Amino acid sequence: MADKIWLASPHMSDEGYEMEFIKEAFDSNWVAPLGANVTGFENEFAVKVGTKSAAALTTGTAAIHLALKAVGVDSGDIVFCQSLTFSATANPIIYQNAIPVFIDSNIETWNMDPVALEEAFVKYPNVKAVIVVHLYGLSADIDRIIEICYRFNVPIIEDAAESLGTYYKGTHTGTLGEYGVFSFNGNKIITTSGGGMLISKNEDQIAKARFWATQARDKARHYQHSELGFNYRMSNISAGIGRGQLKVLDQRVAKKRYIFSYYKKELSCLEGLSFMPINDWNVPNCWLSCITLSGAIRPLDVMIALEQVNVESRPVWKPMHMQPFFAEYDYIGGTVSEQLYENGVCLPSDTKMTDKDLERICTLIKGLWK
Ligand SMILES: *Cc1c(COP(=O)(O)O)cnc(C)c1O
Repeated sequence: MADKIWLASPHMSDEGYEMEFIKEAFDSNWVAPLGANVTGFENEFAVKVGTKSAAALTTGTAAIHLALKAVGVDSGDIVFCQSLTFSATANPIIYQNAIPVFIDSNIETWNMDPVALEEAFVKYPNVKAVIVVHLYGLSADIDRIIEICYRFNVPIIEDAAESLGTYYKGTHTGTLGEYGVFSFNGNKIITTSGGGMLISKNEDQIAKARFWATQARDKARHYQHSELGFNYRMSNISAGIGRGQLKVLDQRVAKKRYIFSYYKKELSCLEGLSFMPINDWNVPNCWLSCITLSGAIRPLDVMIALEQVNVESRPVWKPMHMQPFFAEYDYIGGTVSEQLYENGVCLPSDTKMTDKDLERICTLIKGLWK
């Protein structure tokens, strides 16, 4: 059988940058705890996306958790959260004993619908925070969302876990709201084997997040704690991988965009097949190339056909308001996120794919229409 093709898998640099940073850590015995790689990764990352400060954490989920804490979300508070996303966006709302209200997407962006958001503000004027997602590396229409949130004086947390390298009107996603969150999980555009980053213009708040993330140890010789702490800091080894990966981010974005354009060129002609929306204000990283199907060929047909030749693909995220765990919470909007889930497929988007791999995948998909 042909070699496995993954949806998206780790892709280390050809130059071995990651190993150089890891070797430095070994040579100086800064295997742990925090060290030069963590500080280096934070500073280099902040420069890359164009923000003031960044805190390197164990996961993107931890970054969302600390962002919620930083904006003051606490027990019983309401948080508006995009419904069409991965569960890691919403789970930290529950960690804080707060109450999610899920918001639909619009078809133009696949991300939070500003109209549904306005509606939600009318119903829940006392909301504490809004979490907007830039799904699959597509940017939400963040200007419109910011305008609404500012009018109601509510902070925005941008879940940019999938959108490292995506720009909105020339500005990097994740830098436009109060807080931005990134993930370096194994399937993301760059990986640290697992990790996350919390960014903000507010350096004091990032310093505070670092404090919470290291067990909230007060400045004292003895172990003293005035606040609840978490063990959320990234290790110096993981950060070394991150520093190396950051050097090849632009290459990875270029390849992801190439993969998307390849599919578009080959598959656009197929009846009922549409591609995820690329808006002219949005320079997306194309983390995953996604399609929707409205004709006789269904997502499952495509996924099974690919699986039979050892190629991984996936459905579009199942919205949070359809999840058994979140069933009790309110949902504002129509059926856009449900339709995207029912009709969507994420095509293989691994940056290690060759043109031959892409050709094989496209030939197979086109075969389903014959
Ligand atoms: C991957 C991802 C996260 C979580 O990141 P982890 O580093 O895996 O905790 C959050 N939100 C979205 C949209 C993601 O895709």
